[in-house]
Amino acid sequence: MRLSRFFLPTLKETPTEAQIVSHRLMLRAGMVRQHAAGIYNWLPLGARVLQNIIQVVREEQDGAGAQEIIMPTIQSADLWKESGRYDAYGPEMLRIKDRHERDMLYGPTHEEVVTDIFRNNIKSYRDLPKNLYQIHWKFRDEVRPRFGVMRGREFLMKDAYSFDLDYARSKHAYNQMFVAYLRTFARLGLKAIPMKADSGPIGGDLSHEFIVLADTGESAVFCHKALLEKPAPDNVDYEADLQPIIDEWTGLYAATDEKHDAAAAEKLGADLVSARGIEVGHIFHFGKKYSDPMKASVIGSDGNSTNVFMGSYGIGVSRLVGAIIEANHDEHGIVWPDSVAPFDVGLINLKVGDAACDAACKTIYDALRLKRRDVLYDDRDDRAGVKFADMDLIGLPWQVVVGPKAVAKGVVELKRRATGVKEELSFEAAIAKLTLI
Ligand code: ATP
Ligand code: MG
Repeated sequence: MRLSRFFLPTLKETPTEAQIVSHRLMLRAGMVRQHAAGIYNWLPLGARVLQNIIQVVREEQDGAGAQEIIMPTIQSADLWKESGRYDAYGPEMLRIKDRHERDMLYGPTHEEVVTDIFRNNIKSYRDLPKNLYQIHWKFRDEVRPRFGVMRGREFLMKDAYSFDLDYARSKHAYNQMFVAYLRTFARLGLKAIPMKADSGPIGGDLSHEFIVLADTGESAVFCHKALLEKPAPDNVDYEADLQPIIDEWTGLYAATDEKHDAAAAEKLGADLVSARGIEVGHIFHFGKKYSDPMKASVIGSDGNSTNVFMGSYGIGVSRLVGAIIEANHDEHGIVWPDSVAPFDVGLINLKVGDAACDAACKTIYDALRLKRRDVLYDDRDDRAGVKFADMDLIGLPWQVVVGPKAVAKGVVELKRRATGVKEELSFEAAIAKLTLI
C-alpha cells in the first residue's frame, strides 16, 4: 500500500478527550474516530489490526474444536422473557420496539439465542459435544463509556457457547476454552493471568477472568510472579485431560482487589506482584441455568430426555486493540507485536523523485509483496522527520529506510521498531531478511 493513497489521518497534537495512552495513540495514529459516546468508526489502520486479532482468536477457537457461526445483533425479547433475564438485565440493555410494537433488543450477549438454536436443531446425546462461537458486535449501554475502545458501548466480542451431556464433559469444554485463551493471548504478545471470578449477570458456579497487566488497568490485581513467566501450553491435545494444565495455572495466587486475600498474599513475600490489569476475557460455567428454563435437552443413551450443561466464553476483541497498545508502546508511539501489526514493513523513501531512491523502493516493494509481506510504502513528498515520526507512531515492526547516500552505496537501513536497533544491508539481504520474518 502506498501511503500517499492510504487513508491515514494521523494527528500531531494529543487529543484532549483521551485519558489513557492507548486511546490517545489510536486517535493520533488514525485508527479510530468516535461516532457517538462509546461508538467508534474503525479506519483502515485500525480495521487491519482488528482483523489480525480476529484471525488469531479464530484459529485458536477452531483449534480447540469450536465452530464459527453468526447470530443476529438484534434479538427478539421473547427469548429473554423465557430465560427470565429480560427484567433482570439492567439499563445496559438497549431495548427497541419494531414497527409492530414487538419488543426487540440489541444483544449485550447471546446465551438465549444460541440456546434457541441448540434446542431447535440438536436432539440426541450423539450430537454432543458442541461448542459454537461467533465474532460479532455487542451493545451494552455502559453508564460511563471511557478509555476509547476499552469500554465502549458497541464493541466486538468473541463469544463461544458449549453444550454437553453432563458436568464432567462440560468441565472439559470449559478447560478447552481456558487453554485456548492462554494460547490466544500469548500469540497476541500479551501476558494474561487467569483469575477466579464472579459470574455476574451471566450466572453460574465457575468462572475465570483473564487479566492483562497494564498501569492504566481498571482493576487492581495481585498475583504470584511465576504466573507472569509461565509459557502458554504448546502442542495441546484438546481431547486429552486438560485438568493438570488448569491446576498448574490456578494453583498460583492471583486475585483482583475485591477478592484479594491479604493473609495468603503476605506469605508470598517478594514473589507477590501487585499491579493494575485489564480484563480481556471471561469464561463461565453455568450448567443448566439456561437449558432448564428454555428446555434445551437431548435424548440420552437410556432414552430419557435430559437438559444439557452449558458454558459461555467471551473475549473482548475490540478491547484487545487498546490492551495490546497499553502493553506495547513507547514515547514515540505504538510498538505492534508481529502477530497483529497492520503491516509487516514500513518502507520509507527519503527522497521521492530521486531516480535511484524511487527505483530502490520499487524493487524492495515489489519483491516483498511478491513474498506476501504487507508493506506500507511512504512515497509522500514530505520531510524525513515527518516520515520517521509517523512510522514510529503507527508502530510497524520493521522499517526500511531508503536514502540517496545509502542507495549510492547499494544499501538500505533496516530498523526494528521494538528495539530501535538499526543495520545497513544490501537490498537483497534486506529483502531476504524480511521474507524470513
Ligand atoms: P467488565 O467487567 O469489563 O464490564 P464484563 O464482565 O461485563 O466486563 P463479559 O460479559 O465478561 O464482560 O464480556 C466478555 C468480554 O468482553 C470481557 O472480558 C471484556 O474483555 C469485553 N467487554 C465487556 N464489556 C466491554 C465494553 N463495554 N467494551 C469493550 N469490551 C468489553
Ligand atoms: Mg467479565
